[in-house]
Amino acid sequence: MKYIDSHCHLHDERIQGDIPGILARAEEAGVRYMVSCATMESNFKRTRSLSREYGSILPCYGIHPWFLDSLSDRWEQVLGEQAAPEPCAIGETGLDFMDKAADRDKQIRVFRFHLELANTLGRPVNIHIRKAWDALIQILKKSGPLKTPGLIHSYSGSADLIPVLEKFNLYISFSGSVTRPNAKKVVKAVRAVSKDRILLETDAPDIYPSLDEPAGSTPRLNEPANLVPIAGAAARIRGMNVEELAETAYDNSLKIFSPVLP
Ligand SMILES: [Zn+2]
Repeated sequence: MKYIDSHCHLHDERIQGDIPGILARAEEAGVRYMVSCATMESNFKRTRSLSREYGSILPCYGIHPWFLDSLSDRWEQVLGEQAAPEPCAIGETGLDFMDKAADRDKQIRVFRFHLELANTLGRPVNIHIRKAWDALIQILKKSGPLKTPGLIHSYSGSADLIPVLEKFNLYISFSGSVTRPNAKKVVKAVRAVSKDRILLETDAPDIYPSLDEPAGSTPRLNEPANLVPIAGAAARIRGMNVEELAETAYDNSLKIFSPVLP
């Protein structure tokens, strides 16, 4: 089986000592490509160098809504100059209203810049949304459907919203949260996505899937090879065999990431 990890963070400091091992295990598991998302200006360079060194790593550049305090005065220019000359996706970007103290207006401004840049350059956009669905829909209503399709990563919204998001030309990506035994909301969402819109991701090194581990074991760092149990869980939820689900998600990833593939 072949896989594409639609969203991970291979620049993360916690895993720098193990990149060759992570990539070897990914290859063995059938992971052909990994979309590695930068999260702030200071990790653009590492994301670029990883993608230059390893052909299976596809770069994605953006500012995560958690890290808006890191923005330099000329971040728009920095991001534009980073993204324009090379095949890459845009993100991680988005809206996260979990923290009530977060500056929502600033998040919206930064997110809209990413959407416009993705539209201008014709690149897929990798979107993070937590508790900000109304704000997302308002923005999409104003901008209209994305010219180049994007994705909502590690989907945590309601199943009802999925047809609306699909109309705005978004794909829906599922992470290890589908492996959690009590993930009722995610289970409904996995069933609600159109077959031609479903994607898989690890968000490595975070969101380690719930595998058969003794309770209370220390949280482990996630990696792209864990797409295999994620695909297995998603297939069970949709009542498909895992080969069919994996192939479907792979084909969908090829479509959405075509502007980034070598
Ligand atoms: Zn992420």
